[in-house]
Amino acid sequence: MHPERDSAPEGSAHEATRIVPNRSTTTRRAFLHGASLTAGALALGLGACSDDGGGSAASTTRDSAAGSSTSVAEAATPSGSPVGPDGIAVADLPGEDEIFGWISEIFDQGIRRTGYPADEWAEQWVAERFTEFGLSEVHAEPFAAKRWEPGECKLEVTPEGGQTRTVPCFPVPFSTPTPDGGLDLALVHLDAASPAPVGGQAALVDVALIEVPADMMGYGGSAPPDATDRVVDPDGTLAGSGHLLPFGTEFMGVMDSAIDGGAAAFIGALRDYPGDSFEYFVPYDALSRPIPGVWISNSSADELDRDLAAGPVSVRMVVSAETTEVETNNIVGFLDGADDEVVMIASHHDGPWASAVEDSSGMALVLAQAHYWSKRPVEERPHKMVFLMQGGHMSGGAGLLAYIDAHRDELDDVVLEVHLEHAALETEVVDGEVVATDVPVPRWFFTSRIPVLEKTVFDALSAEELGRSMVVAPDAFGEQPPTDGAMYHREGVPVVNFLTAPFYLFDSMDTLDKVDRAHLVPLTRATIRIVNSTAGETAAGLRSQVEQSTEDVAAG
Ligand SMILES: [Zn+2]
Repeated sequence: MHPERDSAPEGSAHEATRIVPNRSTTTRRAFLHGASLTAGALALGLGACSDDGGGSAASTTRDSAAGSSTSVAEAATPSGSPVGPDGIAVADLPGEDEIFGWISEIFDQGIRRTGYPADEWAEQWVAERFTEFGLSEVHAEPFAAKRWEPGECKLEVTPEGGQTRTVPCFPVPFSTPTPDGGLDLALVHLDAASPAPVGGQAALVDVALIEVPADMMGYGGSAPPDATDRVVDPDGTLAGSGHLLPFGTEFMGVMDSAIDGGAAAFIGALRDYPGDSFEYFVPYDALSRPIPGVWISNSSADELDRDLAAGPVSVRMVVSAETTEVETNNIVGFLDGADDEVVMIASHHDGPWASAVEDSSGMALVLAQAHYWSKRPVEERPHKMVFLMQGGHMSGGAGLLAYIDAHRDELDDVVLEVHLEHAALETEVVDGEVVATDVPVPRWFFTSRIPVLEKTVFDALSAEELGRSMVVAPDAFGEQPPTDGAMYHREGVPVVNFLTAPFYLFDSMDTLDKVDRAHLVPLTRATIRIVNSTAGETAAGLRSQVEQSTEDVAAG
């Protein structure tokens, strides 16, 4: 597979330096495209990361280009370090500190929503890392996505005959802003069985996160009933325990019942949410909702319930937000391999907040693979490798859809698509605060129903002692995995999609302390084992081994 690229103008050093004083989208795109052509051009772009675009920047970056070119050449040379009996060249693995360092650096840029400055920074930074590792043809593939930025969020509550008070809130992403001057409404608790009273008013809607059995996903969808070789849980901590998911029962459709009931506004009460937070970035499907909405905390909702029990309550809601169409980018780089079929290693570069777990951790796991495989000789890479950091995940998965649209006719050659998302720790609430424990969140490895691949994944997880892991059927959570790689499965591509789903995935409390740092290297090693296992396999060969689900058989 050789993804076709946009017919971008040939980059030159002169073009690339223009980005330094001017970070407009156009010049940035010129930089990213230019960057794909030579390591020198990209190195010039390194200066673009500096926010102080001064007049002397061009000469500074020109100097750094020379130095970087040397290190690029070194990085691209295979190390020749020995491979152990497990098929892994330990000397070429990035260490835990290095991988975690990447996560910290990404996190430190701030909120990384689609199209935000930190997300644009991430695109460039990933392109720079790919080039530094010696990947070839590093380039950006632009696509359109919605950028949503909240402004004011104000909720004033006045119980009849009482004092007005202000309730902290966060706008529901992609909901409609209030008209100028805000909305004055009566507050009505939504009763799903008889929603009529919320018509024209502010609907107070309870949203509680779902808790499922922690080992449920090992048995879900088309998984065989015998989960012996699907659940890796040597300490037995999954069975009998619960896993709090980052969604309520309506998933992205949280506002639907209020909208269907004719409400003029939605007030989502995050019931029993750990840490009493209300900074919840759901939905992120980029579908605009026709009414304004805000999230409030459980404790705020309890107060509103007390007010409502005593008599009528009026609310005044002011929500401003800007939704704009922006151009954002998938970042791509290649390594040659033993043949021209393809292994893809991917994740996404945007996130709901500064988001250490979602998905700074996934980006770092992809970089760890790029780092490792770039040091191995070509003949040791089982196939050509495509490293891909998709954008627009928090904007309806726009980068995933764009990549598949642009490369659909190349997917037949993909032996395996590996997505790496979220190395996460469980938490507990101490004195009202959510604090990380040292226990990993249950790890889902959505794996195509190809027995040899399922066995490989199970063996890799077992060998790397990645407890609390499951080989999960790709349809265990619906038609496709709920990952940033979802649609590859639907396109028939053999997949291994790693995902964890802690309850705080879409919350601003997703900070560096929640990253499962101790397992960054074992996850990297397990992924190398899985990639190694594709040696000698072909895309057509693996596809021919897909087990039909029992439902397919029954229906067919
Ligand atoms: Zn993610």
